[in-house]
Amino acid sequence: MAINLWKNFKQIVTLQGVVAKDGRKLNASDLSIIPDGAVIFSDEKILWVGSSANVPSAFEITSTQTFSEHVLLPEIIDSHTHLVFGGDRSHEYAQRLNGVDYQEIAKQGGGINHTVSETNQLSNEDLFDLADRRVQKMSEYGIGTLEIKTGYSLNIEGEIRLCKIIQQLKNKYSPRLRIFCTLMAAHAIPHQYSDSSSYIDKVALPVLELMAHASLIDFVDIFHERGYFNDHDLKKIAAMSSALGIPLKMHADEFNDNCGAFLAAQLHAISADHLLKISSAGMQSLAQSKTVATLLPGTGLFLGKGLANARALLDAGAKVALASDFNPGSCHYDNLVMLASMAAPSYKMNLAELWAGITYNAAAALGLSTSGAITVGFLPRFSMFKINSFEHITYEWGKNYFVQDVRY
Ligand SMILES: [Zn+2]
Repeated sequence: MAINLWKNFKQIVTLQGVVAKDGRKLNASDLSIIPDGAVIFSDEKILWVGSSANVPSAFEITSTQTFSEHVLLPEIIDSHTHLVFGGDRSHEYAQRLNGVDYQEIAKQGGGINHTVSETNQLSNEDLFDLADRRVQKMSEYGIGTLEIKTGYSLNIEGEIRLCKIIQQLKNKYSPRLRIFCTLMAAHAIPHQYSDSSSYIDKVALPVLELMAHASLIDFVDIFHERGYFNDHDLKKIAAMSSALGIPLKMHADEFNDNCGAFLAAQLHAISADHLLKISSAGMQSLAQSKTVATLLPGTGLFLGKGLANARALLDAGAKVALASDFNPGSCHYDNLVMLASMAAPSYKMNLAELWAGITYNAAAALGLSTSGAITVGFLPRFSMFKINSFEHITYEWGKNYFVQDVRY
């Protein structure tokens, strides 16, 4: 068995304090930084981490590498993207900046349904190539695990096609990148359906059953929002996902307080995402549950809707993750490290909360219990930066110090 020693890092940011508190109520010291750090790991797991001066002799090291100009962090995880889509919505964004309101844009054929028709017109090869380039680009920022949602086809065959394209991406990038597929057929209601309920019955539930049996999906998601999918639709999706053993995610309390956070906790959703309009009762529900509160700062900035009340959620004791929401309509931006850096001052997050949000807590939003920290027994999945101190990563907006292709 190969046993690797990496040593002399300027810093190893282990997040061991974050693990000890299960990602809640964190202080900056929970980053548990080791200066002049070293780590010993096999292909399967981390065996030891500590100071380079104290490397134990008990391990039969088969390979040693020195990284005296680098900082090591846990792998960065983007737990919420919609990156398989055709076309773009630049014209819509321009219209919004010029003062045209959302309803008017939708009337002119914009919105999710616009992306649906652009996506459905593309060949499998073209759609795969677009998604593939987006995944490649995200990996260049240091993201090692990402989730991708379907939801831009909105018919049974099309949603199956999107699941298969995501499976192709999984096959291409595994094990370097881990990719998770979330079925989000309940993303919008196509014009031909009279109401959300008939679309849920005719498309969202049948495709969920098919894709679960084909083992092509890891999660199911629903846009729980006024004018989209209601409590009744949510409960139908939740009942079937629970029967099929597919964990539930939710787009919750984004434009209105719909008691989405409360329902997410009650239905044991693995994550409740967006939460711009979450109530304080909703915050308490999440704080008392295992449901991860995932905030998507890029979307609030892109739409000009402001940011979620992260500080209140964190103080309540919720487990908070940050994700990009990369998609053509409401956040056409893919660099989670940059988004987290930009949002942190407004969110009033300390650096342990910020890094936990894109590592350990993001892992929890994907059901990964041994990812997102550098500690014994966890997976040896790292993000390495060529820089003197990890503080530069969030300080130098738009600079990318991530080191690609370090092999062991
Ligand atoms: Zn989303």
